[in-house]
Amino acid sequence: MGATAGPEIERLIALLGKLPGMGPRSARRAALALLKKREQLLGPLADAMATARDRVLTCTTCGALDTSDPCTVCSDSERDATLLCVVEEVGAMWAMERAGAFKGRYHVLGGLLSALDGRGPEALRINDLLTRAGDGVVREAVLALPATVDGQTTAHYVAERLGASGVSVTMLARGVPVGGDLDWLDDGPIAQARRARRPAEAAAPTKFVILSSAAGACRRTQSFSAPPDRHDRIASFDTAATRPAQDDAGWGRRSDALSSSPDSR
Ligand SMILES: [Zn+2]
Repeated sequence: MGATAGPEIERLIALLGKLPGMGPRSARRAALALLKKREQLLGPLADAMATARDRVLTCTTCGALDTSDPCTVCSDSERDATLLCVVEEVGAMWAMERAGAFKGRYHVLGGLLSALDGRGPEALRINDLLTRAGDGVVREAVLALPATVDGQTTAHYVAERLGASGVSVTMLARGVPVGGDLDWLDDGPIAQARRARRPAEAAAPTKFVILSSAAGACRRTQSFSAPPDRHDRIASFDTAATRPAQDDAGWGRRSDALSSSPDSR
């Protein structure tokens, strides 16, 4: 298809089209919206982008993006320095922050181990993590990594490496999302939730157990920063629902509290 506008506009459309979630059609629509609102939208956006380009840097402590180093989170003295949440990317950290369920600090790995892509431990910020975990302040590392093969491979590797540092290593629970209807779920999440079941709290009789409700409802919808509907699930994250990472070998183990149950498989 030939150009319908001058090269400057075509370039704008082409660049917008490189953004995640933007196809050629939505890039064209966005460009048109910007061009029609040059004063109110295009100008301020261009200024904001120029400022971000000049001022954003990577926090040398946690790997987050911010305009200061250490970043806002790392320099917040109100945060619990004994808790460290390990995430794949900055997007996952922002998702956890949106949920408001975590008041510790973060460590951004900068990716996941991947045999397919040839990405090994040296490509991730794992050594920095081990240094931080061994500082004598950190007590618990919460692994908030995707429930994908690469995510779980990374989680097990990180858990193993962290084991020597003496910190307790936990993972986000997986299972039925808050507001989720069993009828609509795939078999995998239901089976995972059953394995991760825990004693029902409050007034319920103790012989009842409940399925695990947590962030990773589906093995297929993985990334914390991906689809918008995932934010609700992350909002259901509760540090109380984390469990020891060592118990998560494969997908076949259940929580400690129930491991003696005769109905375990
Ligand atoms: Zn930081």
